[in-house]
Order: sequence, then C-alpha cells, then structure tokens
Amino acid sequence: MSFITRFAPSPTGPLHLGHAYSALLALHQARLSGGRFLLRIEDIDRARSRARWEAQIYDDLAWLGISWETPVMRQSDNMPAYNSALRALWSQGLLYACQCNRRDILAAASAPQEGAPLTGPDGVIYPGTCRDLPRDPGVEMPKDKALRLDLRAAAEVFSGPLSYVETGRPGPPQTVTADIAALQQSAGDVVVARRDMGTSYHLSVVIDDAAQQISDVVRGEDLAEATMIHVLLQHLLGLPVPRYHHHRLIRDEAGRRLAKRDDARAIATYREAGATPQDIRCMVGL
Ligand code: GLU
Repeated sequence: MSFITRFAPSPTGPLHLGHAYSALLALHQARLSGGRFLLRIEDIDRARSRARWEAQIYDDLAWLGISWETPVMRQSDNMPAYNSALRALWSQGLLYACQCNRRDILAAASAPQEGAPLTGPDGVIYPGTCRDLPRDPGVEMPKDKALRLDLRAAAEVFSGPLSYVETGRPGPPQTVTADIAALQQSAGDVVVARRDMGTSYHLSVVIDDAAQQISDVVRGEDLAEATMIHVLLQHLLGLPVPRYHHHRLIRDEAGRRLAKRDDARAIATYREAGATPQDIRCMVGL
C-alpha cells in the first residue's frame, strides 16, 4: 500500500505549535516513505469557519516550508457525499433522529440512578433518550434534527471486532481492537449529522479519508478516543480502514494542551516576533 497522509485543519482560528508539529510530522513521514502529503480544509462548521483563517493556514504552512498537492479538498464542497452516506445508513435503520439539547442530555445522564455522567469523545455520553422512539426507516430522513448512530442496531449488522493498526507508539505497529459493546460504554450513540451542519466531524473525516485514499492518518492523540467510531463507520459504509499514527500533543508550560484560543502559541505570533521556521521545529522537538 503506498503511503498517503494528510493534514486536516479546521479554519476556525490560527494554527498553533501543535498544528505545526502535526503537519511537519505528517510531511516528514510522507517523505520518508516516498509517499504523498495532502491538505484538507475541514470547514463543515460554517458558523465558525472563516476565509481569513483558511488563508492564514496556507500562509503559515508555506512559511514552515510545507508544500502540498492542489487542488486542496474542502469539506464544504463535499456535502452531497455526506448526505448520500447518511441516507445509506438511515435506510438500514442505523440512525435515529434526536431532539435533545445539551441540557436534556446532561439531565438524563446525571439522573440519580445513573451516577456521575460518563464522557466520551464528544462529551457526555448520550443516554439514549430518543433511541427508543418509534421510527420507520421507510420514512424520509429528517433534515431539521440531529442524527445519531444507533450502536445497538450497528451491532446487528456488523458483528466482527473493530480494529486498526496504530503506528504512533514506540516499537512495531500495534493492532488496537474493541467491540461495539465497548464502544457503547466509551462513546455511546454519537451524532453523525448535526442539525446545524447536516454532517459531523466523525462522518466527514471517514468519507474524506477514503476519498483521498489516505493510507496513514497522522493526528494528535486527543483524537484517538474517536478512532473506533471512525473504524465502525468505515465498516458500515464499506470504506477501507487506514493505519493511524496518533502523536503526542504539544503542551504549554503548565502541561495543558494547546487550543485555537491560545493566540500566544499561534505560529503567526511567533512569526511576528521574528522566529524562523527552524525555531518552530526546535520548539516542537523536531
Ligand atoms: N479537523 C481536525 C482538527 O483540526 C483534525 C481532524 C483529523 O485529523 O482527523 O482538529
């Protein structure tokens, strides 16, 4: 399998040192393997994505000495693909509409008999309130409600273990496995289409990794807890499972992981202060 990887930032704020590390590592691995490095702009969150941040991404990456293939894939162009995947899942009875808001979910998950609410990759694990409402897959897929993946129904159509190869740990590649029952505990029925977006990170990322023929996903270890959801979606949609390299996170002096709001760690801020691309590589330990 030839090596194809990608860097997939969301244009919702400035790139920081953590993004620089992720992009440089992915590019480095592509070069080592004589493979390809692609860029994808993950702009499904139309309310938070901005053209100026997308422009800044291109500018910062070029300044770091990173080049990528064009045209760049933008998720906002791929809505028809997401929609047809949702319809396929809906028609198999694998999705259900959910009208709960955050407050409803927290209240149901914190009910006295439930103990402290458990959290997964998307926050509080959904307690399943809307799962047992009557549904008919023959009915048109609603567009005005969030759609959740029904893990119980998924277990009926996919019985095999879920697994992927992790290449980001010391030593040889490791196979990570789980089953859907474990996923019910660790993630629950995640949202695959948000009401305001018509898709979600989980759905879009698996469709686009397959569309770009990504063989090796290189991304931060904060996303590792979502990976089994991605593997399940890949099976349900008949998509290949890439290898995953979850890398360490770049943290601030207090040990906190960097976030978009950390303007002080933005690459642009270092650039303005006179840092060189080599300084950035040193700062992230490359
Ligand atoms: N768009 C995601 C982010 O900016 C990255 C997703 C991924 O690499 O899978 O955090």
